[in-house]
Amino acid sequence: MADLSLRNVKKIYDNTVVAVQSFNLEIADKEFIVLVGPSGCGKSTTLRMVAGLEDITEGEIYIGGRKVNTVPPKDRDIAMVFQNYALYPHMTVYDNIAYGLKLRKFPKRVIDQKVREAAEILDISELLKRKPKALSGGQRQRVAIGRAIVREPQVFLMDEPLSNLDAKLRNQMRSEILKLRQKVNTTFIYVTHDQTEAMTLGDRIVIMKEGFVQQVGTPQEVFHHPANLFVAGFIGTPQMNIFDAQLVREGDRYFVELAGLRVEMSAEKTARLLAWDVASQPVKLGLRPEHLTLTDRDDAVFAAVDVSEMMGSAVHIHVSACGQDVVIVVPLSEEEETENMPMGQPVRFTFRGSAAHVFDVETGYNLEYPQKSEPEETAPPAVTVPENVPPADQTAEEVPAPEELPAPAEEAPVPAEQPEAPAPAEPAVIGDPFAEE
Ligand code: ADP
Repeated sequence: MADLSLRNVKKIYDNTVVAVQSFNLEIADKEFIVLVGPSGCGKSTTLRMVAGLEDITEGEIYIGGRKVNTVPPKDRDIAMVFQNYALYPHMTVYDNIAYGLKLRKFPKRVIDQKVREAAEILDISELLKRKPKALSGGQRQRVAIGRAIVREPQVFLMDEPLSNLDAKLRNQMRSEILKLRQKVNTTFIYVTHDQTEAMTLGDRIVIMKEGFVQQVGTPQEVFHHPANLFVAGFIGTPQMNIFDAQLVREGDRYFVELAGLRVEMSAEKTARLLAWDVASQPVKLGLRPEHLTLTDRDDAVFAAVDVSEMMGSAVHIHVSACGQDVVIVVPLSEEEETENMPMGQPVRFTFRGSAAHVFDVETGYNLEYPQKSEPEETAPPAVTVPENVPPADQTAEEVPAPEELPAPAEEAPVPAEQPEAPAPAEPAVIGDPFAEE
């Protein structure tokens, strides 16, 4: 249990690649923070700086009030679970979980108690005598988490822990992590590129792009009040529709005009636009697919159906409107049965003023929050990625310090991404940088 503080943290690799810039975040004790963004945006680098696996180029990181910039990983009282976790194939589940504690020379009785408690939490008590090859992918991931739990860390770091699992298992493990969070009462920082994972797990979400934090907020805040066009498009599925439209101010009232349709902004939005004295201007208008409504009104926006997808509880109608592809989500009630709409069928849609998000055409900032969304450095992020830099999602690079726990080739841990494959000649050995040597 600890609070964390990241102050003006910056990371430049090899004097050229700016991976993270101006990262400022106060994380409360026991908070669950999710770092989310597309591949290469700097999430893992940020997490690895917290862990102590990467040097910090500039700025400060505090854990529990202690500045840790130069504190080695094993002295930071953290535990980390990686995407490419790996278990020792020659050890039982019990020994895999106990390993870090044995290294730290905990008494046998204490180790036994901690291992059994962790197994209980993760529902793997029945598996303690098995070897990793007799486990499913999801069970192996639980063992990897168990190994981290027994340390009772102040901070739990997770780097894409579910991305090697298939979709169904990922959903299941996602709720397991929610339960884990209730049982293991500590501070979590969780990295993912998956916005659904971020929305369902995080107390607060940090959305990153090209090394810069775009917005920090609760799932509700980032969904309903996106700071800019990037966040608007990244959060929510299906993606928000973005139109070229006009914002019109008439006295103290605001309207958006789209293809002949004129909709008054809600009172709440109007108050925010007035507060910034926003003038009439062309805007990027964001409308979520679930906020578009099919209608017979004459003044509605005309569209032609391209394809409609029956999703069970809703139909996703893809239409062409205003010279672009638009998605409309139509919820279905229990008894309702709809037939798929034929291609080319004309429809009309409208929306409410409370659902309209207006963004600055030049900057992409949400016009309701122009100051809030203003980054400290107004210059565009100078992210340079030389050709020889490995793709950010390449996992082999992310295996921490193999030298700390060298295992003989035949005893190499089973890499998560190839659970059934024999150990490679030069295996991705998981070192344990958080364990005592
Ligand atoms: P993410 O976790 O969001 O996918 P990363 O933090 O891994 O992103 O990477 C951020 C940027 O830093 C990317 O441009 C990536 O290519 C680069 N990068 C990551 N690790 C290294 C490294 N060891 N050396 C040089 N560049 C790196």
